[in-house]
Amino acid sequence: MSRRPTVLAVLAASSLTLAACGGGSGNQTATSEADSANCPGDVLDVVVSVNQWGDIVQQLAGDCANVTTIINSTALDPHDYEPTTGDIASFEGADLVVVNGADYDHWASDAIANLDPAPAVVDAAEVAGVEGEHADDEHAEDGGDDHGHGSVNPHLWYDPTSVTEVAAAVTAELSDLSPDAADYFAQRATAFTDAMQPYDAELTTLQSLAAGKTYAATETVFDYTAAAVGLTDATPEGYRDAASNESDPSSGDVAAFEAALADGSIDVLVYNTQTEGSVPEQLRSAAESAGVPVVDVTESVPDGDDSFVTWQLTQLQQLADALGGGQ
Ligand SMILES: [Zn+2]
Repeated sequence: MSRRPTVLAVLAASSLTLAACGGGSGNQTATSEADSANCPGDVLDVVVSVNQWGDIVQQLAGDCANVTTIINSTALDPHDYEPTTGDIASFEGADLVVVNGADYDHWASDAIANLDPAPAVVDAAEVAGVEGEHADDEHAEDGGDDHGHGSVNPHLWYDPTSVTEVAAAVTAELSDLSPDAADYFAQRATAFTDAMQPYDAELTTLQSLAAGKTYAATETVFDYTAAAVGLTDATPEGYRDAASNESDPSSGDVAAFEAALADGSIDVLVYNTQTEGSVPEQLRSAAESAGVPVVDVTESVPDGDDSFVTWQLTQLQQLADALGGGQ
C-alpha cells in the first residue's frame, strides 16, 4: 500500500492521514506524518489516546510531530475499551502523550506508567482541574453521601473552556520538547484559535437561544456544552444518576423520563448515537411522539468529519435549530 503524499498543513482542511491498520474493524489507529522540511525544530512523536483530542493535537503540532491517535473510530465505545498489545506498543518512544484522564482512558495512563524514558504527558482532566478522586475503590462507602458518584463527567472535549486550556497545555509541552519550533507552535496555536471562531460564535448564538430552555439527555456526553450555553438539565434525576454511573436505569426512571417528554417540561432531547440500546431508542420515540426535537451527538469524532471544529459545529447548529434559531 503506497502512502499518500503528506497533506499540506492547511489548517481548515486538516485531517488525519490514515496509515490505518486493521481495515474495517479494530480501533483504526491513525498516524499523521510530519513533513520535517516544514519544521524549524525537532520533529516529535506524539501519541493521543482518543480522536476527540487527536485532531486538536494534530492541528497544534502541524509538521513538527507525527501524531498517532489510538482510538479513531466511532464504532468503539472508549469507556469500555481494551487496548491491544499493538496499542500499548504505540506509546513506546513517544515524546509526548495526550490522554483525556478522569478514568475515561485509564488504559492509556496505565500503558505509559512504566515507560522508560517517561514521555511528557498532558492529561486533559488534570489541566481542566476536574481530576478528582478515582472511582476505582468501589464507589462510595455504605451510608455515604448519595451525591458522590465517585467520578467526574469525563467528556471534557465538550467543555469549551477545557478545550482552550488543553490546547494551551499541548502547545506549551510541544514548545518545551522542540524549542527551536516554539515560534512555529505559537503560529499554529493562533491558527487553531482562528479555526475555532465559528464554534465560539455558535456558542454565543446558543447562549441567547437557550435562555429559559431545558434539555434532557440519554447520556451525559453533551452536558458540559449544554451548561456552557445555559441550558437547564431537566433529565429526570433517577435516569441521570444511572447514566452517569453507566448503570441501567430502572423502569420507573424510564417512565419518569417519558412522562417528562410528554408533559412539555423538556425542550430538546440530546441523543448520543454512539450508545446503542433499547432504552435510548424508546426515549427517542417518546420525544418524537411528543414533538420534542432530538439533537444527535456522538462521543467521538465521526469517521466522515475532517476536524473537531466541523464536528462540533454541525452539532451546535442542530441544537440551534432545535431551539428555534434555525431558518
Ligand atoms: Zn461517554
